[in-house]
Amino acid sequence: MNYQQLLDEIASEVRPFLGQGKVADYIPALARVPGGQFGMALATVEGEVFGTGDWQTPFSVQSVTKVFTLALVLAAEGDALWRRVGREPSGNPFNSLVQLEYEKGIPRNPFINAGALVVTDRLLTQTGDAFGALRDFLRAEAGSAGIDADPEVARSEREHGHRNAALAHFLASCRNLENDVDVVLDHYFRQCALRMHCGELARATLFLARHGLRADGRRFFSRSEAKRMNAVMLTCGTYDAAGDFAYRVGLPGKSGVGGGIVAVIPGRCALCVWGPELDRSGNSVAGVEALDRFTTRTGWSVF
Ligand code: GLN
Repeated sequence: MNYQQLLDEIASEVRPFLGQGKVADYIPALARVPGGQFGMALATVEGEVFGTGDWQTPFSVQSVTKVFTLALVLAAEGDALWRRVGREPSGNPFNSLVQLEYEKGIPRNPFINAGALVVTDRLLTQTGDAFGALRDFLRAEAGSAGIDADPEVARSEREHGHRNAALAHFLASCRNLENDVDVVLDHYFRQCALRMHCGELARATLFLARHGLRADGRRFFSRSEAKRMNAVMLTCGTYDAAGDFAYRVGLPGKSGVGGGIVAVIPGRCALCVWGPELDRSGNSVAGVEALDRFTTRTGWSVF
């Protein structure tokens, strides 16, 4: 398989899709990102990395970080987390409040904001520094010591974070947060504000393609835990469009409103695509299109 040629061809095929969709504007710091950009990277389990387009342009990782906080918590405590958060698709927007109330403060899954706040809370209890633990894991797996949060995005998230604050306070009222609400939110906002490029994110996601092995060969979690993580990504990783993503792409994937999406082909490689213009569910238009083409051309979906 000539990966480089394949990625270059996909990048030129998705060019007509750039400009469709809308850059996230819920915080001013993200609304300023110019549209029309597209990058794609592929990291093989053997350690090779291929990229095309704007694959080395850093962007706001946003909800893609939810994969890594969940992995850190599951690696540390296994199934105990599932008492506090479910693992069913939500069928609702990622920042929805209504479902959380009628389900009595147990978020539907760890990839909607309410569930991710519970995961960050757990990581904070486990490590004393949820953001630091996440950043260090990403630096080690991506092999990039410079990975960090963008302070302007973090500040903007905080200033416009009323919905996340409402979710966190509601969780606390249901006794589903262990730490101070403001401290959990601070770690969560900095987590969302991490900046990475497609190459770094593809490398950082490889532990899921390697069935639980980290970049240095150490076991991070068991093969069966890697399988479970991939399953939750497949069913819940792309908000209320997870069904459509499975239909079109057929891979475990996780998107963020910065326009990034990571996807896993177990045993083979990890992919990251980025295009800041989003569809109505909050997934990158060009990114989903590129992954759709990738699995169609290679036949490498999990189906
Ligand atoms: N920072 C965003 C939020 O909490 C992340 C959401 C996302 O990427 N879906 O609203």
